[in-house]
Amino acid sequence: MVRWSDELETRWRQLSEDVLVGMKEWRLAHPKATLREIEAAMDERLAKVRARMLEDVALASRAADLAAVDERVRCPQCGQEMEARGQEVRTLTTTGDQTITLRRSYAVCPSCGEGLFPSGGKSRIVGRHIRE
Ligand SMILES: [Zn+2]
Repeated sequence: MVRWSDELETRWRQLSEDVLVGMKEWRLAHPKATLREIEAAMDERLAKVRARMLEDVALASRAADLAAVDERVRCPQCGQEMEARGQEVRTLTTTGDQTITLRRSYAVCPSCGEGLFPSGGKSRIVGRHIRE
């Protein structure tokens, strides 16, 4: 579940604007650039926007994640109320060598030791890809 906010929309518009203005200025400074050079300059800017948007969408998921912990998850094995056990923090590298940071809560059963992510079962973030 993704929650959109005006703040998020404003930030994304600003990111898009930065790409437009940045490319315009770059083009004026490099009037004889080849198609390949233009492509590289554009990819560099788009990669930054892509990483920030990806992180924002993941943060919106985190809001849902925290809400899931508040709802008092019960152990699927024995029915005991589970306890929050901190957060898993992962730093990933995505397209264009951009870094994004993801967090999600982990819950453990005090009775039988079963552990899970309330927001996403037992799914794991594997390597460079996010699997849900
Ligand atoms: Zn249990």
